[in-house]
Amino acid sequence: MLKIKNNLKIAHFALLMSLLNFLFFHFPFFAYVFNNVDYKSLNGIILIASLVILMIIANAFAFYLILYLLRKVGKFLLVLFFIINSIAVYFVNTYSVIIDESMIGNVFNTNYEESSSFFSFKLVLYIILFGIIPSIFIIRTKIISVPPKKFLITSSLTLLFIVAMAFANASNWLWIDKNSKRLGGLAMPWSYSVNTSLFYIHQYQKNRKEIQLPDATIKDNRKSVVVLVIGESARSQNFSLYGYGRDTNPLLSKTPNVFHFEASSCATYTTAGVKCILEHEDTGDLYEILPNYLYRNNVEVIWRTSNWGEPPVHIKNYQKRDDLKANCQGEGCNYDEVLLAGLKDQIEASKKDKILVVLHTSTSHGPTYSKKYPLQFETFKPVCNSVELGNCSQQELINAYDNTIVYTDYLLHSVIEDLKQLKDYQSTMLFVSDHGESLGEKNLYMHGLPKGIAPKEQYEIPFIVWVDGSRQLKPNTTLSQNHVFHSVLNFLGIESPVYKEEMNIYK
Ligand SMILES: [Zn+2]
Repeated sequence: MLKIKNNLKIAHFALLMSLLNFLFFHFPFFAYVFNNVDYKSLNGIILIASLVILMIIANAFAFYLILYLLRKVGKFLLVLFFIINSIAVYFVNTYSVIIDESMIGNVFNTNYEESSSFFSFKLVLYIILFGIIPSIFIIRTKIISVPPKKFLITSSLTLLFIVAMAFANASNWLWIDKNSKRLGGLAMPWSYSVNTSLFYIHQYQKNRKEIQLPDATIKDNRKSVVVLVIGESARSQNFSLYGYGRDTNPLLSKTPNVFHFEASSCATYTTAGVKCILEHEDTGDLYEILPNYLYRNNVEVIWRTSNWGEPPVHIKNYQKRDDLKANCQGEGCNYDEVLLAGLKDQIEASKKDKILVVLHTSTSHGPTYSKKYPLQFETFKPVCNSVELGNCSQQELINAYDNTIVYTDYLLHSVIEDLKQLKDYQSTMLFVSDHGESLGEKNLYMHGLPKGIAPKEQYEIPFIVWVDGSRQLKPNTTLSQNHVFHSVLNFLGIESPVYKEEMNIYK
């Protein structure tokens, strides 16, 4: 055990903090390293030893600088690091995530209700053991500082050592570069510190005004309605329409005029996936999104959501789950059925000929899949009820997830039944998911890995279309999320300079 002294020299204290940081929070980092180098070879041993030494020295150096330059604030920062580290490592260990920029984006787009579904006893234990106990020690220790001259000497010598170590390992730079995404996402506290800064820089860049598209014109006055259902974490693999062994689409599979297409999402996280579904092309810029564009050009636009993370929507009829609950009856109102409450009446009450309805659902959002559907949809049992996905068998997890697909099947079927009753309108429904989901394959869960390294489960998405007798579909097999924009324009009879006929699915 450590002898807890009340007074420590600043260099010793920084080194001790770095050692604790290494021991408490870097098991996943080195587990990854061990899995990806040949640790029986001489080079492998050198690489691992160098990484250990570099990590301890470099972090000690960083902590030393922070403590010397910021004094009391430095101590406070260290406390913050240990507490956030403990939470981050819990999530890394439990969900096999890496803390990269898109994961930070997911965290900031999670609201209280969602984050409380992650709450578990194990998480509290992590925070107490690895966060709070070291923090008490940090606060209670008196740090003995050094004169500026000594600080400069120590700093320069350490820096020199780090540079020398780095150059001695030049042969391994390529390996480090190749694995930098993973390693960077597992190195505490830098994974979230650096990526939070990057997230905000990029967020700031993105928040500049959306680029307006050239005006559109409505070509005819035929009454038409499109319902676009945006799925959440739905992967095509688990839809029986796509050949899944289980009957997860008991209703849609018997519904005439339902078609499905192979599709991949642009990204593996919500904000980017939803943006792609709503934009006319996939660029880094923010163009005027479909609902804003149509609303500005005199189309009735209704947005109903039980989810988050879409680009800013500027329309009159923006309705959240709680707004809709007021006019909803029955147990289904606690689930995504609430999005359908009174929808038919709302469409019929519109004085406009052209209507776009967007339903942004949340049904397959993890980790508590079993809480996203009413009990009568629990077709596959037993289900995983734990937030710690590792505690459930993979089959229990898949059962719960498959039930969300059965419920989605019901929701989509209900939308179609509603549309069929709108005899005065020509109508269609599009269902496209924002991204896919990992259910324990390759020991991965949820979503959000960078697209370049993500497994196909995280981006192979369903793209399902129902259309009434008025129109037919082109013989496409593979579609992208950007097909939505052009297809909606075509179906509603809207002319626009940005319209691309090859991205339209209707004949
Ligand atoms: Zn999502």
